[in-house]
Amino acid sequence: DTNSDSDSRDPTSLRTPIVAVLGHVDHGKTSLLDKIRGSAVIEGEAGAITQHIGATAVPLDIVSSIAGDLVDPDDFDLPGLLFIDTPGHHSFTTLRSRGGALADIAILVVDVNDGFQPQTLEALDILRRSETPFIVAANKIDTVPGWDETEDSPINATYESQTDRVQGRLDEQLYEIIGNLSDEGFSADLYWRVQNFQRNVGVVPVSAMTGEGVPDLLAVMMGLSQRYMKEEMEIDVTGPGVGTVLEVKEEKGFGKTIDIVLYDGTIKADDQIVVGGQNDPIVTDVRALLQPRPLAEIRTESRFEKVDEVSAAAGIKVAAPDLGDAMAGAPVRVVCDRDLEDVVREVEAELADIAVDTAEEG
Ligand code: GDP
Repeated sequence: DTNSDSDSRDPTSLRTPIVAVLGHVDHGKTSLLDKIRGSAVIEGEAGAITQHIGATAVPLDIVSSIAGDLVDPDDFDLPGLLFIDTPGHHSFTTLRSRGGALADIAILVVDVNDGFQPQTLEALDILRRSETPFIVAANKIDTVPGWDETEDSPINATYESQTDRVQGRLDEQLYEIIGNLSDEGFSADLYWRVQNFQRNVGVVPVSAMTGEGVPDLLAVMMGLSQRYMKEEMEIDVTGPGVGTVLEVKEEKGFGKTIDIVLYDGTIKADDQIVVGGQNDPIVTDVRALLQPRPLAEIRTESRFEKVDEVSAAAGIKVAAPDLGDAMAGAPVRVVCDRDLEDVVREVEAELADIAVDTAEEG
């Protein structure tokens, strides 16, 4: 039923899964995000907006052109993947949505040379507790001595072109990671051997430097989302927007603004919103919704461009009065035609949840 007609789809729609990248410092989280962003820009048509505020959207057609034969767009009806640009588990734990992690799915980056490190274990612990599905990106495969690189190649092709000796070295490093995952109670295997990604963690060999394995990584993330998370991605796009504050920022000409990730519904440029604050929830009216302007136009104008509305999942900057007390990690809700007091109470309840979780983490 991938091509159900638009009547039966409306107003329920499938949103983009939200992806977070975790892992030990220097294992390559930022490089991997940069590589994915770079590939998406190259594959995208001129002017296609893939850069959101605080996040990078990689639409299905772009996933498919990066992944080549590994992703046939006809097999999918999820619209793509939305990567949160701030890597690391600090942002992962502070970014919550009602009932759990803001990210629907995660990539745990492990340097094949360095193996498991303290922050790898911490990240695993967080993923376990939040029950977030994840895959492991075994990164820096290009550093295996003797590696013969083929830029942006799927793993199978580049692996086949290595000498036996190099293949053997990589295999050893990958099995070490699989062993470490098993020690931590996660049954894991190389991703092409995994049948059920709910039971087993897939390990994807990659290089954030050369792009090798990145097609596989995107294909696995897309496949896993489509297979296991489709129901969770069903939202009422026309409903009042719901999101989480990524960052509170002063912006020239706009005062204090909030960068948010919207994970449900729609926010419009004239909506009344309730935002979690350091004291009471903030009730305010959106003054502008801002997206990054495409690079080519930046020279003359402001860095941002105003949009009338945006629907989940998306990253967007919201300019509004009275945001001085807003907090990273706090909820944002559009009021719409509902009773303001009800919405304020919802935001208060979510803030109380966050406070309890933070206290538990000690
Ligand atoms: P983060 O702290 O996890 O975000 O790690 P970074 O992305 O900043 O990477 C740490 C260092 O590892 C940088 O010097 C990167 O250039 C390097 N690096 C990251 N990925 C790769 C890779 O796949 N291959 C190689 N050779 N170096 C990498």
